[in-house]
Amino acid sequence: MTTQETPRRTPAPPPGTWLGMPAFPQAAKEQLQLTEQRRNLVHATTHIRAKRADRAAEVPNWEELRTAAAQIKNRVARHLDQYLEQAEAAMTAAGITVHWARDGEEANRIVGAIALAKGVDEVVKIKSMVTQETDLNEYLESLGIAAWETDLAELIVQLGHDRPSHILVPAIHRNRHEVHDIFEAEMGRYGTPAPPEMSDDPEELANASRAHLREKFLRAKMGVSGGNFIIADTGALVIVESEGNGRMCLTLPETLVSVVGIEKLLPTVEDLEVFLKLLPRSSTGERMNPYTSLWTGVTPGDGPQDLHVILLDNGRTNALADPDGRAALRCIRCSACLNICPVYERVGGHAYGSPYPGPIGAILNPQLRGVTSAVDKALPYASTLCGACNDVCPVKIPFTDILVHLRNKVVQEKTSHHPTAEQAVFNSIGWVMADGRNLEKVQLASRAGGRVLGERWIGRLPLPIAGRWLKARDVDAPPAETFRAWWAKREQKGSES
Ligand code: SF4
Repeated sequence: MTTQETPRRTPAPPPGTWLGMPAFPQAAKEQLQLTEQRRNLVHATTHIRAKRADRAAEVPNWEELRTAAAQIKNRVARHLDQYLEQAEAAMTAAGITVHWARDGEEANRIVGAIALAKGVDEVVKIKSMVTQETDLNEYLESLGIAAWETDLAELIVQLGHDRPSHILVPAIHRNRHEVHDIFEAEMGRYGTPAPPEMSDDPEELANASRAHLREKFLRAKMGVSGGNFIIADTGALVIVESEGNGRMCLTLPETLVSVVGIEKLLPTVEDLEVFLKLLPRSSTGERMNPYTSLWTGVTPGDGPQDLHVILLDNGRTNALADPDGRAALRCIRCSACLNICPVYERVGGHAYGSPYPGPIGAILNPQLRGVTSAVDKALPYASTLCGACNDVCPVKIPFTDILVHLRNKVVQEKTSHHPTAEQAVFNSIGWVMADGRNLEKVQLASRAGGRVLGERWIGRLPLPIAGRWLKARDVDAPPAETFRAWWAKREQKGSES
């Protein structure tokens, strides 16, 4: 492996699963065996959720802010087509090249084509969930282009040949001793090595990562970012982060490509105010986040001179089309639902088979990818339905309602191919009840059955589903005349008299 190769996170995935993970029930069992990981998770999530609760309690209109955020996001979803066109026009006017990507493959191809056209063999990246969703690093690696993660936690994950396990703190499952060992063993293989005398003191680890990343920041000609928000009326992009590495990525390279999900729009900069109050308190339990970067197009002589934005669908319009599931698109990736979830705290993020773990992963992945694979069918059941996530989500996503809705979808999907006996019965009842004429036909048939088999005839039918239940119970034979027939006769008599 040369220093230009990207450290792979895992071996190549088998088809149908994210990076080779099995479905939740099996993956959870395996993850529960990792005692050290469980200890790290309990320690981290207990600390973060206590901080979140304190910071939220300080804001007198916290509930009103949550409602406002949900309403703003709902408005965006209702008029998404208009806001997208408005944002495209504003970004284009500001000198940004706007691309549209239907799926992850298309987004990757666009980023790869830009990188090849620029002749670069490496890019620096600031934490971007969507590029994990599309496996961009692996795609770039196949083109001979190294993608360097520059967020500290992402760097730990990448150097550890690992997978992210949390939205905000991707290396939450690692403690500082493990981070020390990863840095010591791996940094030298891909650039500036860790200092020989480095201890596992967090400050020394941060200094080692700074030195390792600095040469990459100064050398890279192209940056790839995500985006927390796009302001539709001005075309401004917004990134919220804690370390400042993002700002280096956004300002130093000559070319910047931002890959952003189409649901990340906000109508105006005034709407941003609501989210900048909610997001840091909900995510890291801070009153405000250290770095908030807004950039609107190209400024000659200042920052990247070639800006691209890729607006990614990748299943989002499918989610939008589902009135019962679309609220999941309100998510601002704060991770409060992960930190409060008793299931996540025990099994960790890897069990969810996706870069989106925890409660949001359980409702978002099956909508983005459909409920066809074993991984996605299992996710709506990866919850106790305790509802703790409902209470902390800053955009008031009704998790438990969506989980139940998706469980129903999973059952529908399963029974549409192989109806169970129970499903067959309920489908038949549905057909009967859907139309009065069908009910009449069944009533006629049941009266005929009663005449042939006599009283209490249902118990004598060879119904596989009846089993022991009908042996102990029976239904009286239907009356000789149905209500409808009686009513029709009565009406006829009335008209004759
Ligand atoms: S679903 Fe809500 S709580 Fe969970 S990450 Fe998204 S915004 Fe945060």
